[in-house]
Amino acid sequence: NEIRPASAAADTATSRPNNLEAYWMPFTDNRYFKQHPRMVARGEGMSYFTPEGREVIDGTAGLWCCNAGHGRREITEAIQRQAAVLDYAPNFQLGHPIAFEAAARIAEITPEGLDRVFFTNSGSESGDTALKIALAYHRARGEAQRTRLVGRERGYHGVGFGGMSVGGIGGNRKQFGALLPYTDHLPSTHLPGQHAFTRGQPEHGAHLADVLENLVALHGADTIAAVMVEPVAGSTGVLVPPVGYLQRLRELCTKHGILLIFDEVITGFGRLGTNFGAERLGVIPDIMTMAKGLTNAAVPMGAVAASNDVYDTVVNSAPNGIELFHGYTYSGHPLAAAAALATLDLHRAEDLPGRARAIEPAWQEAAHSLRDAPNVTDIRDFGLIAAVELAARPGKPGERGQNVFRRCFDNGVLVRVTGDIIALSPPLIIEKAHVDRIFGTLTEAIRAEAG
Ligand code: PLP
Repeated sequence: NEIRPASAAADTATSRPNNLEAYWMPFTDNRYFKQHPRMVARGEGMSYFTPEGREVIDGTAGLWCCNAGHGRREITEAIQRQAAVLDYAPNFQLGHPIAFEAAARIAEITPEGLDRVFFTNSGSESGDTALKIALAYHRARGEAQRTRLVGRERGYHGVGFGGMSVGGIGGNRKQFGALLPYTDHLPSTHLPGQHAFTRGQPEHGAHLADVLENLVALHGADTIAAVMVEPVAGSTGVLVPPVGYLQRLRELCTKHGILLIFDEVITGFGRLGTNFGAERLGVIPDIMTMAKGLTNAAVPMGAVAASNDVYDTVVNSAPNGIELFHGYTYSGHPLAAAAALATLDLHRAEDLPGRARAIEPAWQEAAHSLRDAPNVTDIRDFGLIAAVELAARPGKPGERGQNVFRRCFDNGVLVRVTGDIIALSPPLIIEKAHVDRIFGTLTEAIRAEAG
């Protein structure tokens, strides 16, 4: 049963592509990139390797997703074994065992009561699925008028029309016109003047949740279907919820019969030192989205966990036949389900949340050691996430961030930038030496950029 890489796959670890033009790259400055391509071709543990073999420490777990590190044989072998047994079977009106097994294993680690798992292929699909389930739930209860969806400024729920509309990032929306009607946004939880250099959760700001009462007063509670937020907003620059904020939001949603949806696409699977952010923050939503760390990103998979009440209400409201007119060809894909099971095994065997918790103090200390570096205006952290915010170069927002990103990569560390915010979210297997290397390289890059 020896598993050997296919020769074509082995070649991709050392070769560079001849044609860069055909691929229209996502969220990328295609013209710049194709003149200055930056590639990784192999991954192992905490590191990527360029086609020439240069090591780049992964400070971002890919895109917040390779929580168990790269090249985990346990996962790739599970995928290969499954491919040899059943490559694909539809999940519309037909089952295959491994998808049920994966759903049951996910339900074991979701917060209590969120035991019903719907499979998707990405965080974006999970976001749109969660919103559609919320709408179907209210309709099933005879409250079809509850169609308003509330998100939050600087929230990111992927790029589907639902997630994009409920998300609060102007830059992601402005090319696409009006988007979904009947969406509203709570203010961001970040108070720049007051939260700078906070370690962990800011003490002040729970009152920002009360803006939901204004929306209720304006539109009527009986028009609002759901509030969707990330427990910690990641991709817009690591915005950590103030103490008590999510509790307040939970109370208000319960009071007004509004479903609370947590987007746990990056906070799930150990990133905050617990299985899900809900656990660390002590608030249980009605619906939760996930993706990324679910399969360690080895193959695409997302999921939505719904409460038993949500599931029962939707399923029992249908007189007969299909209860939810929603699903994807690849929902519960056997290879993804195999990857999820192997990932969940690693998650448990290596106690990845525990590892994240153990190294969090050193991570926090290292992040905040950049406080006196030039142009640093804020540092935020929570769990194994951190952000270092830089003052924008006058008249050139984002340029400083890009330069720091490129300099770090050239010096062997992958960081992520959003404008002038550097975000970090390493694999949870990170050790102290990697922490020092990541923040050391980042400090040098920030200094060089100022000099
Ligand atoms: N939700 C959150 C909180 C995310 O951070 C992301 C991706 O970064 C998504 C949703 C979208 O996930 P995907 O890119 O898999 O569609």
